[in-house]
Amino acid sequence: MHILLMGPPGAGKGTQAAKLVQEYNVPHISTGDMFRAAVKAGTPLGKQAKECMDAGKLVPDSVTIGIVKERLAQDDCKKGFLLDGFPRTAEQATALDEILPEIGIQLTRVINIDVPKEDLIERAVGRRICRKCGATYHIAFNPTKEDGICDACQGELYQRADDCEETMRNRLDVYGAQTQPLIDYYQAKGLYTAIEGRQAIDKVFHDIVAALKGE
Ligand code: ADP
Ligand code: AMP
Repeated sequence: MHILLMGPPGAGKGTQAAKLVQEYNVPHISTGDMFRAAVKAGTPLGKQAKECMDAGKLVPDSVTIGIVKERLAQDDCKKGFLLDGFPRTAEQATALDEILPEIGIQLTRVINIDVPKEDLIERAVGRRICRKCGATYHIAFNPTKEDGICDACQGELYQRADDCEETMRNRLDVYGAQTQPLIDYYQAKGLYTAIEGRQAIDKVFHDIVAALKGE
């Protein structure tokens, strides 16, 4: 199972990815998570990524393609992967088309979680993440039992620096200009399935699994 998970920022990719990697036992490759790990580690990549992320802009293609290429070459990707948040530009999509045959992989399906723009800001602004295990919650739509404490591991929750309204508006503009056009690209390849993202988390998951079964 080699799956691309697409959708605008805040659509629920990370939430669904956590469930899908358990269901299919494949690695979760999220470029956003990779950049956040680099920021935390204080590496030169992290410093460059932080500037772009804080402004709601994309990290340059050359950098992003480089880290994805390196990650996909690892052995655990042979049995499958869930690629979340990549590609986000036409150049990244073209690069992926070159990388995959080199490592003998064909995409199974491209899943796009559809959520209208007006819901996305509320989703991002209310998002909270566990510092320890990375679980994602929402203060209103998917709250923890105890305020600020992760249900799964009792870690402390935090809010991403780029989850403020202003940065989110920039991220949505970037998505519309650079990433949304990729829908046509994958539709033309016959790989594309759109999933209604304005449903309960478990129903979205059910619909994705059904799409992957070809139902
Ligand atoms: P993405 O990875 O696409 O940016 P997330 O999975 O982090 O999105 O979800 C964004 C926010 O929306 C999180 O706070 C999450 O808890 C919440 N969320 C995810 N799926 C749903 C859903 N189906 N309904 C309501 N809120 C959701
Ligand atoms: P995400 O966690 O997917 O919302 O990504 C957070 C931020 O990381 C984005 O706003 C970008 O700055 C950066 N980023 C993640 N994936 C990519 C990508 N494929 N190309 C460029 N920048 C990315």
